[in-house]
Amino acid sequence: MSDTTTVSDGVVTVDGVPTGLFVDGDWRQASGGGTFPVRDPSTGTVIAEVADATADDAMAALDAAVAAQDDWAATPPRTRYDLLRRTFDLVHEHADDLAALMTLEMGKPLAESRGEVVYGAEFLRWFSEEAVRIGGDYRTNPEGTGRAIVLKRPVGPVYAITPWNFPLAMATRKIGPALAAGCTVVVKPADLTPLTTLFLAELFRRAGLPHGVLNVVTTTDAKAVSEPVLADPRLRKLTFTGSTPVGSALLKQAADNVLKTSMELGGNAPLLVFDDADLDRAVDAAMLAKFRNVGEACTAANRFFVQEGIADAFSAALTARVEELRIGRGTEDGTTLGPLIDERAVDKAARLVDDAVERGARLVTGGHRIDRPGTYYAATVLDDVQPGSDILSTEIFGPVVSITRFATEDEGIRMANDTEFGLIAYAYTSDFARGQRLAERLETGMLGLNTGVVSNAAFPFGGVKASGLGREGSHEGIEEYLESVYVLTPDPFAG
Ligand code: NAD
Repeated sequence: MSDTTTVSDGVVTVDGVPTGLFVDGDWRQASGGGTFPVRDPSTGTVIAEVADATADDAMAALDAAVAAQDDWAATPPRTRYDLLRRTFDLVHEHADDLAALMTLEMGKPLAESRGEVVYGAEFLRWFSEEAVRIGGDYRTNPEGTGRAIVLKRPVGPVYAITPWNFPLAMATRKIGPALAAGCTVVVKPADLTPLTTLFLAELFRRAGLPHGVLNVVTTTDAKAVSEPVLADPRLRKLTFTGSTPVGSALLKQAADNVLKTSMELGGNAPLLVFDDADLDRAVDAAMLAKFRNVGEACTAANRFFVQEGIADAFSAALTARVEELRIGRGTEDGTTLGPLIDERAVDKAARLVDDAVERGARLVTGGHRIDRPGTYYAATVLDDVQPGSDILSTEIFGPVVSITRFATEDEGIRMANDTEFGLIAYAYTSDFARGQRLAERLETGMLGLNTGVVSNAAFPFGGVKASGLGREGSHEGIEEYLESVYVLTPDPFAG
């Protein structure tokens, strides 16, 4: 550990992590002087007091981003590469600090936080490489009478709103491509987990970030702080990751100024296991797809659909693995399942499990709160979950497996598609043609075919239906921050 966090006997302390607002290259207090507490969900104790921005602070951040926009857009791509690449290196140098910080403010086990550091940093490296490869086009018109040049320009100042569940990666997935494209950014992280983003901004500062190019405002009043930013015509892009209801409300606000938008919203992932699946691998993947991040992932398997011939064996094998999970503080050695983010999350898991049981599901294991300080819910398996149960239509965001059985491929696909969401699906089968049919018929932006984790900076992450608009990662990710300008010229050979 270096200058940010100390882990000793499972107790983590935060030193040197900025707690102010990052505006125009400097740290400052909120204009009203307000602060709010950040809590460790594994104990409920306050770990830091962070500046509580007002709308005026957010507008100062937007002013800074607007002032820096033209110079940043004109910066050589190699300079943008250098900044992102230096920050990538700094993130790795501070991997232990960032991991401890994420575990501290979000609760997941340290090993998973370390995994997020690697994943989150990758967006900085990937988009540093994209910065120097932004393309254009030169075409002859179909009539042969003219030539078109198509050039790419940064869309302009960006407002980025991020959720609490992946405090580092959800920020880098937006800041990386925005800065690479030549856009300046104001980020508003979730108030439950602001410290990681603040520390990331500090690493950008140390890497040589020009003033105003990246700004961070932390607040407990996301709506009041965001509204004037979104209403300001100088803002040109909104990128949001979070729940579908909030995303939908933000889209309405963004409509007033016809903002370019990217929306990474909620999920309700099906995980299909067919009779011909490799059972052991399917169980391994199911554990990852369900319990990674304490189940608090938009990609978390929410609805398990298991074909009748393998269902008993799958349910028994999965339950045995679930019962091996060790609940505890994320900082404790051996912990494989941390606390949920807050009391509301525990209440939600409990309510969904109770509802499913009332409607006829079998509670195989778990199904209760854990009596210890912090906000814990037992790893739970429900089998024979009945149609109409809330758990089938609601994003659980907790460590609860919900199994429903199906007979035929058609029935499995129909059940999987029976949701407003379409972020990701998982399927286990040894029949490749079936896998191809699933890829063509499942209503999803991503499919994990015989694998339980798909996230990778090199590939396009995003959903269909109510799960969102646009893609993050891959070469597609930078397009979200660019716009095409088409220039028509006469045929240079015509007299
Ligand atoms: P949330 O929608 O409650 O909050 C997300 C962010 O929006 C936070 O920063 C919050 O402060 C802010 N916010 C809330 N109301 C706002 C308003 N009126 N105006 C402006 N900002 C506002 O979501 P959450 O609980 O932080 O995150 C969990 C959700 O995020 C889940 O639905 C999950 O599926 C989704 N998620 C999606 C992806 C993806 O890539 N599709 C990734 C991670 C999380």
